[in-house]
Amino acid sequence: MSKTYNIAVLKGDGIGPEITEATVKVLEAVQEKSDFKLDLLYGEAGFYCIEKHGTNLPEETIALLRRTDACLKGPMTTPEEVGAPVSVAVKIRKIFNLYANVRPCRTFPNVESLKPNLDFVVVRENTEGLYAGAEFLAAPGVGIAYRIITTEASARVAEFAFKLASKRKKHLTYIHKGNILRITDGIFKDAVKAVAKKYPDITVDDLHVDAAAMQLIKKPESFDVIVTTNLFGDILSDEAAQVTGGLGLAAGANIGDTYGMFEPVHGSAPKYTGQNRVNPIAIIMAASMMLDHLGEREAAAKIEKAVTGVLGEGKVSTADLGGLATTTDMSNAIVAKIRAF
Ligand code: NAD
Repeated sequence: MSKTYNIAVLKGDGIGPEITEATVKVLEAVQEKSDFKLDLLYGEAGFYCIEKHGTNLPEETIALLRRTDACLKGPMTTPEEVGAPVSVAVKIRKIFNLYANVRPCRTFPNVESLKPNLDFVVVRENTEGLYAGAEFLAAPGVGIAYRIITTEASARVAEFAFKLASKRKKHLTYIHKGNILRITDGIFKDAVKAVAKKYPDITVDDLHVDAAAMQLIKKPESFDVIVTTNLFGDILSDEAAQVTGGLGLAAGANIGDTYGMFEPVHGSAPKYTGQNRVNPIAIIMAASMMLDHLGEREAAAKIEKAVTGVLGEGKVSTADLGGLATTTDMSNAIVAKIRAF
């Protein structure tokens, strides 16, 4: 009997709806020759919800997420005014304790990258740090933000990263700014070092975040698994995405012990909304990560092979990759490849 997974789909706003719809077509194609089914349950969330519901993440959507096995999430615009609703991604990460943000950084055939054959992963702590968003105005012109770092959260993301490194090239680099942030990054460093004792076969290095930003440009091939705190991971993973091929290709998984949310690394790119012009591969690869997480490895690999195949042929290429193809062209080409396997 075929298995059915309930998947929450949040299309998001800006370019979110068009790239999510492109991904749904890929998911439909991959189910045709698989022995599982995806029941896609659409929920409302994002900037457009604020006027309608007074929040960017309505309670009904949270309840929907609770009923599902995983969430596929399009990007969403986050307002920047003081007092406006906080980012939907940040809220979902906290509600479901999705403590590891996993961002694979790899090169693709025919896609310009800083160096060839790169393959590493950024694992970013996903629940605290400066992303706690705990800040206040102490006096006019004086703002204070709390950077919350705990042993518990640092150790569990470190454990996740070490497990990942054991399945890869057995090399882990932890990135911090312990020379300046001695208390908070001291806690992070100590937690990583404590977990490292359980993994004697993993080579462990550490770097200050500024040196790491430089090393990602100078010698990106020196990385396998990177583990770091929330904001450093956010910044470094955008940098790493550009080093390996661009934000249009970079996928991310938010993983907890009981739930996973899968989304592109990039945001809602509002200036391209509705133009059918952006690259859907980042969220398509996030959907592949979702299937892999659900245990549907063959289907996940099929999507990845189709993406690599289309890029390798070089006939369909979106504007970010120097081509003229639309979002729909890219999605159709990936769908056709999957159907041809
Ligand atoms: P962004 O990632 O949306 O866009 C930056 C630039 O990257 C774009 O202008 C575009 O040139 C390029 N780009 C992004 N996605 C692309 C794609 N699929 N194909 C081709 N090119 C692509 O970053 P931003 O402008 O800083 O943020 C816009 C909004 O998105 C903000 O409101 C921000 O808060 C939000 N955001 C949301 C998430 C999320 O939902 N998880 C993540 C990051 C940013």
